[in-house]
Amino acid sequence: MSENKILPAVSVFLGKGYSHFIDGAYLPGASGQTIDVINPDNGATLATVQEASAAEITQAVASARRAFKGTWAAVSPAQRALLINRFADLIETHGEELAQLESLCSGKSIQLERMLEIGFSATSLRHYAGSATRLNGETITPSFPSMMGEQYTAFTRREPVGVVAGIVPWNFAIMIGLWKIGAALATGCTIVLKPSPFTPLSLLRVAELAIEAGIPAGVVNVLNGGGQLGQTLINDPDIAKVSFTGSVPTGIEVGKAAMAANLTRVSLELGGKNAAALLADVDIDAAVGGIIQTSYVHQGQVCAAPERLYVHRSIVEPFTRKLAAALQQLKIGSPLDETAQFGPLSNAAHLDKVMGYFKHAAEHNTVICGGKRIERPGYYVEPTVVLANGAQDPLLREEIFGPILTVVPFDTDDELVTCMNDTPYGLTASVWTNDLSRALRLIPQIEAGTVYLNMHTFLDPAVPFGGVKASGIGREFGSAFIDDYTELKSVIVRY
Ligand code: NDP
Repeated sequence: MSENKILPAVSVFLGKGYSHFIDGAYLPGASGQTIDVINPDNGATLATVQEASAAEITQAVASARRAFKGTWAAVSPAQRALLINRFADLIETHGEELAQLESLCSGKSIQLERMLEIGFSATSLRHYAGSATRLNGETITPSFPSMMGEQYTAFTRREPVGVVAGIVPWNFAIMIGLWKIGAALATGCTIVLKPSPFTPLSLLRVAELAIEAGIPAGVVNVLNGGGQLGQTLINDPDIAKVSFTGSVPTGIEVGKAAMAANLTRVSLELGGKNAAALLADVDIDAAVGGIIQTSYVHQGQVCAAPERLYVHRSIVEPFTRKLAAALQQLKIGSPLDETAQFGPLSNAAHLDKVMGYFKHAAEHNTVICGGKRIERPGYYVEPTVVLANGAQDPLLREEIFGPILTVVPFDTDDELVTCMNDTPYGLTASVWTNDLSRALRLIPQIEAGTVYLNMHTFLDPAVPFGGVKASGIGREFGSAFIDDYTELKSVIVRY
């Protein structure tokens, strides 16, 4: 079997017509505005959701605030861990349904949906569950003078910040939504999520499953709407923290709005223009496979994926020849086709953006392979490799977030480091070599939140993830997220 059959549960869900998930139930929107959800495989309308107005935002935040102070505050850390684990189990139990729902909206391959949006999300939730009982402070002995024999001690408490606004992009709606839910729940916060209007459905189903897992009503809420809704949500005085994942320009707007609202805490997981470096000794065949796996996954619509490829001049010709040949062999097909290796871009606006870069490349660059739209319904384009046209080439400087890899030859390690760091971004980078000593000398010089060796793009919930420079503020995963979702309270005692 290659093309998956749509599950009955998915057809029913698509046919319902959705509103907002607030205080454990669906609440119709008062705005009368709706959003059509489009299938990128064929451009057809899949479903319609209602757009939230200010009234639903207020209700969602109020319900999250009530739960934060009431039902959720009464749940012990161990019980929170149990509920998050149960929630992870339900995500897996309903994995195929969620995977299909999200695949239909985002154009992501069903295999990737199963592996990342379901499998990796469940693993991440379990990681967060393990942190719920480990929100530790420290004990400190102050040095106040003792006048009459009194003594002092002090300790710190990790306290949840409160209601979190989670703003989610369209590339991995379930996974990124669940990272934010997991971090909020583990630390005792509650959350109001705003998915992208391109992919609003799966997080509504996820919120239903949170209730089924026994997580109290109001702890997880989902509002649908566009950027304006996000802004209004940030401005709500009961939002204690904004956790935003998206592009750099929007992240800057979100950061400014959060500061202006109430010096609201903000963590920003933003875009990148990630560089991979192939040193002269690299195994070319292995590197071709690795670069295809990491640069073209989900059609390049992955924040951590490399878009700039620095290749030692001695291997540029054989590497690019083999890469182009391998890309031309990829099976292009529908997201629900289990054998397809490359699918459509996620939405029409993004197709237009990528087509703009194709036009630029055709006029200014050497196109090694690809560079065209594929003649079939939906938003399909060719996996593409181009040679950079100078250091100021927009293909080298701007985040494309698509399947275009720009290749730059280099000669020396010093030149390589200068070029890799010549970007405002700093999310991920990689070095591909068997020369460990050289790699370990290069790694500290590379300005990125994560540097990979002989791999790229993969994430693990035990390993902190986030950007430096314009790629963001804050970290997901590891134990680093705890700083972002808790306040540190000092308690000083005289006895
Ligand atoms: P956007 O920045 O366009 O949007 C992200 C979310 O923010 C959407 O829900 C969007 O709604 C909303 N939004 C837009 N304007 C505002 C505003 N003024 N205030 C509050 N919310 C707003 O990103 P995309 O959805 O296009 O996602 C792609 C981007 O996300 C890429 O740059 C990618 O690198 C980045 N990303 C970063 C990751 C990381 O972990 N570092 C992971 C995944 C993606 P609307 O769609 O209606 O505009």
